[in-house]
Amino acid sequence: MALLAALRELVGDNAVLTAPEDRAAFETDWRGLSSHEALCVVLPQSTAQIAAIVKLCAGVGAGIVPQGGNTGLVAGAVPAPGGNQVVLNLRRMNRIRVLDPVGDTITVEAGVTLQAVQEAAAAQNRLFPVSFGAEGSAQTGGIISTNAGGMQVLSYGSMRAQVLGLEVVLADGRIWDGLKSLRKDNTGLDLKQLFIGAEGTLGIITAATLRLHPAVSARTAALVGVANVAAALQLFQALRAQAGPALTLCEFIDGPAMQLGAAHTPGGRLPFTAPAYMLLEISALDATAAPAATLEPLLAQALESELATGAVIAQSTAQAQNFIAMREAVSEGELREGGAIKHDIAVPLATIPATVAAIESLVAAKYPDCRLNVFGHLGDGNLHINIRPPAGQTLAALAGRKAAITAEVEAIATARSGSFSAEHGIGQFRLPGMRTHKSAVELDLMRAIKTALDPQNLFNPGKMIPEKD
Ligand SMILES: Cc1cc2nc3c(=O)[nH]c(=O)nc-3n(C[C@H](O)[C@H](O)[C@H](O)COP(=O)(O)OP(=O)(O)OC[C@H]3O[C@@H](n4cnc5c(N)ncnc54)[C@H](O)[C@@H]3O)c2cc1C
Repeated sequence: MALLAALRELVGDNAVLTAPEDRAAFETDWRGLSSHEALCVVLPQSTAQIAAIVKLCAGVGAGIVPQGGNTGLVAGAVPAPGGNQVVLNLRRMNRIRVLDPVGDTITVEAGVTLQAVQEAAAAQNRLFPVSFGAEGSAQTGGIISTNAGGMQVLSYGSMRAQVLGLEVVLADGRIWDGLKSLRKDNTGLDLKQLFIGAEGTLGIITAATLRLHPAVSARTAALVGVANVAAALQLFQALRAQAGPALTLCEFIDGPAMQLGAAHTPGGRLPFTAPAYMLLEISALDATAAPAATLEPLLAQALESELATGAVIAQSTAQAQNFIAMREAVSEGELREGGAIKHDIAVPLATIPATVAAIESLVAAKYPDCRLNVFGHLGDGNLHINIRPPAGQTLAALAGRKAAITAEVEAIATARSGSFSAEHGIGQFRLPGMRTHKSAVELDLMRAIKTALDPQNLFNPGKMIPEKD
C-alpha cells in the first residue's frame, strides 16, 4: 500500500492502475496465453519519473516489468508468476525529441510506435526500414529490447543495426545518457549493445537515437509460386546474385499459410494457386530506376526454367500493399482460427530444405492430425514453424503435446547449427530452450552480466535468463 501511495504521488492517481479490469490488458500477452496479477500498472511520462519509480520499487523489492506495445510473442512484457511485480508501461513516453536531417538520425522516446518513427522519417524524405505486422502498436523500447527483425532485415539488418544511442534507467535509479548519434565511437565497451535484445532484464530504455536511411524512390512487389522451399531457396539465390541489395524483401509462405493470410486480409485475393509462395520486393533509390524492369526478366527466366510455377508483379502500390498485407496477416489468422504452437527458428541458408523436410517428416509421423504452417524471412534463414490444432479445434487440444512438439522442432534447428529463437526472443515461453540449447558458459556469462547490472533482480524477473538449478 505504501508503494502504491508513493507511486500515485509521483505520477498522479490516473497513471497508477490497480483495479483488476484496468490491469487485465496489461497483464495478458498478445496471444492470450499468459496472465498473472501485477501489483499495479504505472504509466510514467518522463525519464525522471521512471528513475524515481525504480528507486521506489527497489526500496521494497518489487519487480518491474517494462512494457511497450505488449505485442511480443514470448510473454516477456507481462508479469511472471509469483506476484510482487509492477508493470511499467511506456506508452505515455511518446515524444519525438529531434530529427536530424544532416546526420540522418531520429531521437525518440521509448513509447513512440514503430509506425510513428516510420512516418516521421518519411515526412523528411527518409526511410526507417524496420517493418512488421505489429508496427502500429509495437514501441521503440520494445523493438529495441527484442532486437526485432521483420521483413527488411535482408537489406537493412535488424534493430541492433539501427540503434546509435540509448538513454537507460539503471537498477540503482541512475540515468545513463548514451544518446549519441555517432557512426563511429571506439571509446571502450559499447554499452548500448548490452541493452539491445536484453528484453528489459538489464535496464529500462527511455529514449533512443536511430539511424535513418535514404528514402526509396520506387519499389515493386511480386508474388511468385514455387513447388517447395528448396525451389524458393534456389530462386532467392538467383535473384540475389542478379539484383544484389535492390532485393529488399524475400519471404517464403507455404500454401496453407498464404491461404490463411488471404482469408484474414480485407480484400485479400491470391492471383493464382501454388503449393507455396514467395513475396519479393525490389527497391530503388534512383527515381529514374524501374524496379519492375529488373524483376521482369528474372521472373520470366524462373518461369521458363520451371523454378517458378506462377508469378504476378504488382501493377499498383495498392496491389503491392495487398500482397504484403496477406503475408502479414498469417499470424493474426492463426490466432483467430484456433491458435498455433509457434516456433521462430533460424538455420544456415543451405540447410533450409533439409530442416523443413525433417519438420514435415516429424509432423507426418508423430502429429498427423496437426496442420503445419511454414513461413517467414527466407533470405535471413528465419522460418516460423507453426503447428496448428486439427481443424475446428483450439490450441487446448494440443496442451498435452505442446512441450514435446516444441522440444522436437527446436532440436531439429539446433542440430543444424541453428537458433531456436531467431527474432522473437526468450521471454517466458522459450526458457526451456535456453536450458537445453545454451551452454553452461553462455548461461554463466549472462547471469554474471545480470548480477552486475541488476543485483536485486528487479528488472523483468522470471524472463530470458533461466535460474540456476
Ligand atoms: C502480428 C505480429 C507480427 C510480428 N512480426 C514480427 C516480425 O516480423 N519480426 C519480429 O522481430 N518480431 C515480430 N513480432 C514480435 C515483436 O517482437 C514485437 O512485436 C515487438 O518487437 C515488441 O514491441 P512491443 O513494444 O510490443 O514490446 P513488448 O511486447 O511490450 O515488450 C517486448 C519485450 O521488451 C521489453 N521492453 C519493452 N519496452 C521496454 C523498454 N522501454 N525498456 C526495456 N525493456 C522493454 C519487455 O519487458 C519485453 O521483454 C510480431 C508480433 C506480432 C503481434
